[in-house]
Amino acid sequence: MSRQQFNFTHQPETDQSFENALSKARRGERLTVADGVELMTTGSDQQGIVPKRKEAVLEAANRRRAEQVGEEVTFVANLNNNVTTACNTGCLFCNFKDSSEQFRTSYQDDHSGFTKTPAESQTIVRDALEKGIYEVTSVSGLHPAFALDDEHREILESSERGDINYRPPSEYEKNPGTYCAQMEAIDVGGVHVHSMTPEEAYHAQRGADWGYHEVYSRLQDAGLDSVPGTAAEILVDEVQSVICPGKISTDEWLDAMTAAADVGLPMTSTIMYGHVENEMHRVLHLQRIRELQDRTGNITEFVPLSFVHQETPLYERGMVSAGASNAEDELMIAVARLFLDNIDHIQSSWVKFRNAKGLKLLSCGADDFMGTILSEEITKRAGGEYGEFRSFQDYVDMISAIGRVPVERSTDYQQFRRLDPDDSPYGPALGPQADGTPLLPPV
Ligand code: SF4
Repeated sequence: MSRQQFNFTHQPETDQSFENALSKARRGERLTVADGVELMTTGSDQQGIVPKRKEAVLEAANRRRAEQVGEEVTFVANLNNNVTTACNTGCLFCNFKDSSEQFRTSYQDDHSGFTKTPAESQTIVRDALEKGIYEVTSVSGLHPAFALDDEHREILESSERGDINYRPPSEYEKNPGTYCAQMEAIDVGGVHVHSMTPEEAYHAQRGADWGYHEVYSRLQDAGLDSVPGTAAEILVDEVQSVICPGKISTDEWLDAMTAAADVGLPMTSTIMYGHVENEMHRVLHLQRIRELQDRTGNITEFVPLSFVHQETPLYERGMVSAGASNAEDELMIAVARLFLDNIDHIQSSWVKFRNAKGLKLLSCGADDFMGTILSEEITKRAGGEYGEFRSFQDYVDMISAIGRVPVERSTDYQQFRRLDPDDSPYGPALGPQADGTPLLPPV
């Protein structure tokens, strides 16, 4: 099915010209949505992307990147520890989740999902911390037994509402505990805890009326250090109503992120593109992220995530036939660099793009190359073949090969360490227990 078949109100049509938009981008002027659409489409009066125009946009973005952040390419030593795949939200782009019914003690058949108790999460994090990681990232399915804390569980247990997606832990094979218990468990040894998307924060207050400020305050007290701005996908309701009708609205997502910033939590921002949306939706999303950053100043980086279509309901139901093209990926990175004039760092995700293309995108406006990801279930289970581990040796080799400077960073971009290509073996040195030893023995 082509994107035109969804009858969206927003279409990638403007009164601006490509040439004017490009001139503004080159001069460093703040771009309008129309400018962004012209650059993203290489001129909406043309059929398809015009290669020569695309190269001009990439070149402008690469120059802006060099002016803004120089030649360094950063990465972080991190671990993914996702607590559970149990989720009933039913987002059509997701193959990470498993129906939570399969996790109940009454379910007889085998399933491939998992839930970790707080103690199990802590063991995994302690082990990775000893290896030298700086950060643990944790993003999970919305398990019906999850509560924010003990007070929240009491509210959920006594609620007579039938619409709050709650079942007591006793009904499941394994108890994920509470969100705060998971935070306390993984907040060990000075590790940076990066967790609790707005969607998870919504789940963490269902049935209560605390508001996101209170939720993020309690999570911060329990050990949360920063918030992943994922679960946004595309911040335009007409797209969300197609791909994830069970999720919070774009306004609610923005409210949650604003509250996280208000309590002092740094955060990242993302876009997941290349499914049913068009270029106007992509640029409207960028505008909402830019406005959020104007209001808060707490966003450290922007992460374009290209939709991995295989094995997702969107693909299996014939609603999409493929993800974004190479040219679309390049333009997404480039226009993000040019449009988001208030966010310093644009990430190229090797998990989504693989190594060669990930490196190419570093010359289209990106300056961050993600993290080591000691484990990565989400992309692997959605059909991506590269959701594994990237060593410091890999990073130094790849980044040096394109003539850029490999730099280990902290999650909040406050600490940096340049790696000397003549100084192997390479390992992390910024993590609380890092001593320069490689994270894993070489294979
Ligand atoms: S994207 Fe998140 S909320 Fe949606 S189905 Fe997957 S795990 Fe659940």
